[in-house]
Amino acid sequence: MMSSSYVSRVNQLDAGKLDDEIFRIFSTKIHESSQLFAPGVIERWSPEINASLRTIIWVWTLIRGKSTLGQKLLNLTYADLTKNKAVLLVLMSVVPHYLEEKYLDPNRLVSARTKPFVKYLDVMSTAVSALSFSNLLIFLHRGSQPFLRERLLGIRSCNVTSHVFRDIGYSFMIRELLWHGLINIFSTGLPMINYHYMRQLFRKLFPKSKAVINETPSMDLNTLCPYCNLTPVLPRHAGCCHLYCYYCMQAHFTAAESFDCLACGAELHRDNMKAYIVLPDHK
Ligand SMILES: [Zn+2]
Ligand SMILES: [Zn+2]
Repeated sequence: MMSSSYVSRVNQLDAGKLDDEIFRIFSTKIHESSQLFAPGVIERWSPEINASLRTIIWVWTLIRGKSTLGQKLLNLTYADLTKNKAVLLVLMSVVPHYLEEKYLDPNRLVSARTKPFVKYLDVMSTAVSALSFSNLLIFLHRGSQPFLRERLLGIRSCNVTSHVFRDIGYSFMIRELLWHGLINIFSTGLPMINYHYMRQLFRKLFPKSKAVINETPSMDLNTLCPYCNLTPVLPRHAGCCHLYCYYCMQAHFTAAESFDCLACGAELHRDNMKAYIVLPDHK
């Protein structure tokens, strides 16, 4: 089998991304099954579970050949991977992630005994990040060994078959970008719309006949808040005979100085808002 020495940078980076993605698929499945256990059990052992999962995936793929799952999908392989290097590769892919999840996760409590170790680990992790970054720059320049572990072990990806050009359809990517853009617009834009104000504006286009203002409201068992259609909680009124929940009325007055009663159309003002008091019967 001929193996070509040139591998595009995109393919090499994608192989790594695919490896991460495959791990994530299995990991989410395991965490989804955590509903079967008592709460907190999976979270407690999560670093150990993830580490074993990573080990299983890496060992399982490297036993069957010299390429990771991501590389297999893209027809790549490590031509110069010996047995010893394979063992080191598995360790380098599993141990750093494990230590990071176990000791550097801010959501996990660290016992006082391991505090100095964690500090040391933190410095190490920063150093590794810096090295990875410089390695990435070297990779972008030279075009091989995108990951630090590859450079340390002296292994590089090469094609399984000679010269396979990879077609990348960007139309899919554009659709993805467009979709994310739309989601962003909706998630940041929608909360900014003053819903009460818009509703009032809309109602003003179709005015109802104005009702008599300054009526005294009376509450009985059938009284409903015109806004939420439930028995008014902390009933309030502001001129017409309708009783609103405190929250429903205050929400309207927060949006605008005045609004038209949803039931009778009378214009209600913020200054007229009063608590409903049961008046004694005068007979
Ligand atoms: Zn209400
Ligand atoms: Zn009313």
